[in-house]
Amino acid sequence: MSQIVHIPTPLRQYTDKLDTVQVSGATVADALAQLTTTYPELKKHLYNEQGKLRHFVNIYVNDEDIRYLQKEQTPLGATDTISIIPSVAGGCPTATAELPSLEQEEVARYSRHLILPEVGMEGQRKLKAASVLCVGAGGLGSPVLLYLAAAGIGRIGIVDFDVVDLSNLQRQVAHGTDDIGRRKLDSARDAVKAINPHIQVDLYETALSSQNALELFAPYDIIIDGTDNFPTRYLVNDACVLLGKPNAYGSIFRFEGQASVFATKDGPCYRCLYPEPPPPGLVPSCAEGGVLGVLPGIIGVIQATEAIKLILGAGEPLVGRFLIYDALKMKFRELKLRRDPECPVCGDNPTVKALIDYEQFCGLKPAPGATAAPVGAVPVIEVEELKRRIDAGDDIIVLDVREPHEIDIVRIEGTTVIPLGELPRRLDELDRTKDLLVHCKVGGRSAKAVTLLREQGFDRAVNVAGGILAWVDRIEPHKSKY
Ligand code: ZN
Repeated sequence: MSQIVHIPTPLRQYTDKLDTVQVSGATVADALAQLTTTYPELKKHLYNEQGKLRHFVNIYVNDEDIRYLQKEQTPLGATDTISIIPSVAGGCPTATAELPSLEQEEVARYSRHLILPEVGMEGQRKLKAASVLCVGAGGLGSPVLLYLAAAGIGRIGIVDFDVVDLSNLQRQVAHGTDDIGRRKLDSARDAVKAINPHIQVDLYETALSSQNALELFAPYDIIIDGTDNFPTRYLVNDACVLLGKPNAYGSIFRFEGQASVFATKDGPCYRCLYPEPPPPGLVPSCAEGGVLGVLPGIIGVIQATEAIKLILGAGEPLVGRFLIYDALKMKFRELKLRRDPECPVCGDNPTVKALIDYEQFCGLKPAPGATAAPVGAVPVIEVEELKRRIDAGDDIIVLDVREPHEIDIVRIEGTTVIPLGELPRRLDELDRTKDLLVHCKVGGRSAKAVTLLREQGFDRAVNVAGGILAWVDRIEPHKSKY
């Protein structure tokens, strides 16, 4: 008679990194006794001084939570599986005796926390024991990192592979003008350390992927989603559900923000809310649509607040609630959100049991075996060719499909301006017999415009690769970029 015991990530350091251990016992108590004899270090993490299972450790036999049964006397069958599930917020060492102590300097530093009954010495030590991973060190990540550092979260991980750009500084307050060109990781680490030298900062210079997400998330108690694209949002969500780690979610667009806490034990996940991603191109990114600079500050601070509450076990977390913030109206709305029993990831019969290809899921690349998507399959010219034809005085139309407020920032002289959204009803303004050279900011919208124009019989429409940004880089570098 033998059973499998699943060892949770935080405890694997005591089982020679094994995630499963084979035992053979007549009851759960037998099985756990064998386990702790083989791995004596585990004992003090599972049992208190009186030899009772610690209250933050749940034991499941197969899918059954045995807390309400006879607990450790639960008899075991030949093929039963035992899972040890420690509560996640605060991680494994939440027993007060095992929490790290505070130095004198820290007591002074956190004094405004310590006099809050909801925090106190114990809560502050929980914060010190806690670990939070922030995915992205941009608009949302900046305030998250600064406030988590100030609050005394002991270990903060940052995942990012970007470099600080001048256009980031309008909202990414962890970075300064002197940081332009530096890795965001380095700049963010310096900002965190400047606020609080006690924090352990782990840097991961990588794009989050299905290959690395579980490994990156595993050592942390809480994951903060500070990403800016749909494939990564679904990836963060699914990895959090699979690992049973709360996901403090936030997103921003123009003047509106959203926040929630997903993937807690009984709470809903991002897929319960949005089972399917929007089709590519429907929802513009912040780079295309713009974002009010203070907006990520507000939403990021909400994410940090929720992370701190989860660690402290204080208040009512934003679980099962979806918060929507409108900066122009200065209004918060709250929607109720339930876990969907049919959810493919966190539902009763999940179909997604491992991380998938999220670019494909979000329609950003064709499924294997499918024919290549026609997107982008339009004739293209380079900006040098556009310049040559303008200089030669060719009888051409250069069509700019950006929005009027973008034209105000920078434009090529003498172009015809029709925003992409107005193009279908303004086709009469264009001459079908002429070469039509179409551009936008970077080439995405103009590719759609060329596809549309060609469908409407403008056979001489071509896309200008790289758009106005390529034009400024290579033809008129004295002009502004945005
Ligand atoms: Zn779900």
